[in-house]
Amino acid sequence: MSGSRTPDQLEALATGASRRLADATAEQALRWAVEEFGDDLIVASNMQDAVLIDVATRVKPDVDVLFLQTGYHFAETLGTRDAVAAAYPDIRVVEAHPEQTVAEQDAEYGPKLHDRDPNRCCHLRKVLPLRATLADYSCWVTGVRRADAPTRADTPIVTWDERNGLVKVNPLAAWTDEEFDDYIERHGILRNPLVAEGYLSIGCAPCTAKVAPGADPRSGRWAGSAKTECGLHA
Ligand code: SF4
Repeated sequence: MSGSRTPDQLEALATGASRRLADATAEQALRWAVEEFGDDLIVASNMQDAVLIDVATRVKPDVDVLFLQTGYHFAETLGTRDAVAAAYPDIRVVEAHPEQTVAEQDAEYGPKLHDRDPNRCCHLRKVLPLRATLADYSCWVTGVRRADAPTRADTPIVTWDERNGLVKVNPLAAWTDEEFDDYIERHGILRNPLVAEGYLSIGCAPCTAKVAPGADPRSGRWAGSAKTECGLHA
């Protein structure tokens, strides 16, 4: 169960903090979140890298980390998840599973739903499991950055997540690509080995392609289709 505050109270909290923390650093935003919510928050990671986890564990070493186990991940992503769990032994990796296995989904909807109806596939394998897991928390923390894509250009540091009914904190929202890469370099942060191979935005294997040099990093997601977001953040 999430904390004792009502959705209205959480929304008011998020609205006030959104103003006060509009220009907060990542550490300031996380300190506020941890002081406000304690164990009642969870950090989401797609295991592309451990930047957000590293920043969060400096404030709360035993933080919960949410990983959406879609059943379609690259082996390298699962390896990164295991390496992260070993490198940050105090965290608790919370895996959110879809209601159906890939085989069960194939049986009901036909194979490769991701090719025919990716919105439905994402809804079943990401959006619903995320919502079910977030129902146990009052706050979630994501690694979304304004520099990720034009659709993310207005990402606030703190906001009210109406759809999932909890506070959402994006501590890295203002970080540029240079600041992000510099943090990885300076702190020796774990990174999914696929990044070095040109996969600059890593999601499920069937929907992730290499990105051409100089191209928008997220252009490798659902390449060839109009879809740009899985529905978790937009
Ligand atoms: Fe399905 Fe692709 Fe979405 Fe993963 S990213 S849930 S495989 S449509």
